[in-house]
Amino acid sequence: MKIKVPFNYLPLQFKNLNPYIKQWKLLAKSSEFTLGPFVEKFEKAFSNYLGVKYCISTNNGTDALILCLKSLGVRPGDEVITVTNSFYATAGAIAAVGAKIKFVDTDSRYQINIDMLKKKINKRTKVILPVHWGGASPNMFKILKIARKKSIHVVEDACMGIGAKIKKKRPGTFGIVNAFSMHPLKSLNVMGDGGMVVTNNKKIAMWMRRYRNHGMINRDKIDFWGVNNRLQPFQAVIAAKELKNLTKIINKRNVNAKIYDRNLRKIKNVNLPDRPKGYLETFALYMGLFKKRDKLKKYLYMNGIETKVHYPTPLHLQKPGKKLGYRNGSLPISEKQSKELLTLPVHQYLNKDQINYVIKTIKKFYKKYD
Ligand SMILES: *Cc1c(COP(=O)(O)O)cnc(C)c1O
Repeated sequence: MKIKVPFNYLPLQFKNLNPYIKQWKLLAKSSEFTLGPFVEKFEKAFSNYLGVKYCISTNNGTDALILCLKSLGVRPGDEVITVTNSFYATAGAIAAVGAKIKFVDTDSRYQINIDMLKKKINKRTKVILPVHWGGASPNMFKILKIARKKSIHVVEDACMGIGAKIKKKRPGTFGIVNAFSMHPLKSLNVMGDGGMVVTNNKKIAMWMRRYRNHGMINRDKIDFWGVNNRLQPFQAVIAAKELKNLTKIINKRNVNAKIYDRNLRKIKNVNLPDRPKGYLETFALYMGLFKKRDKLKKYLYMNGIETKVHYPTPLHLQKPGKKLGYRNGSLPISEKQSKELLTLPVHQYLNKDQINYVIKTIKKFYKKYD
């Protein structure tokens, strides 16, 4: 029997708007539509959640990354090291401040390859920008150690890492200043765009609060030329409510992922990443390497199962990556992975029958085509 297994959970998550409407009415009445108490309330809640001193909300995750790099004075002539398998914005943010992107290959968990990272550091390296890709984390302790030795900064792209843990420490608490996204497909999401920067550094926080809001000291006075990167209060209401559900969402995704892990590890055509001890993943994405990926993807789709590929082309082989001089074979691990990577639906609204149906269908495929 065919069961539908959708990838998209948003219509289910936002089916009942009543919890938000009450707050939105209060917001409308207050007409505090630019920053103000609703935004501040969320910023406080999020910095408490992470255990960091300062949270500065932004209009999206991409701008959060750009603000991080700008706050450290990254500029043309500087180099920033990041991983080639990430969302476009990681590299786009580096380009936006005029710095040179140095791509590093992946490891067997599709994270930044730390052994190879060391070799990319030179006198112009200003920042290492590791990504918590898919809601899993690279070994941040090792990255910090390398950065400290060379006196360079670490900025975390924690856009997918909200709620993860590495030995009890959360993404966003390792780097000097770090970025999050609340895009609809992240673990903590709003109805559109939103993001945050977090830091324990007072000087950076003070600069960023002003820069994000035109450099304003008050209505009549500015400190320096700034920009408008403000989070919408309408979204802050959603973010504050959803933050309360975050632990439950991550737990449910972990339950689903465990069932996948247990069953899919037995299939010889499937290669899943290690789950190192002490790492809590959020399973923003449940990824694995699947032989005959494209054919399997089609087969699953025909059987009602929606999957995605994150991503079929690593960043260094995209058009602007090639302009930097990268070619086929430049970063071979990620290139090989990109041909077999598949992301299965793992979201919090799936039930056991749906998960088991996905497993059964994958098994059926390999029986038929192996
Ligand atoms: C989503 C994402 C971003 C960008 O966030 P937006 O809020 O969509 O701008 C950046 N980096 C990574 C790793 C992401 O997953």
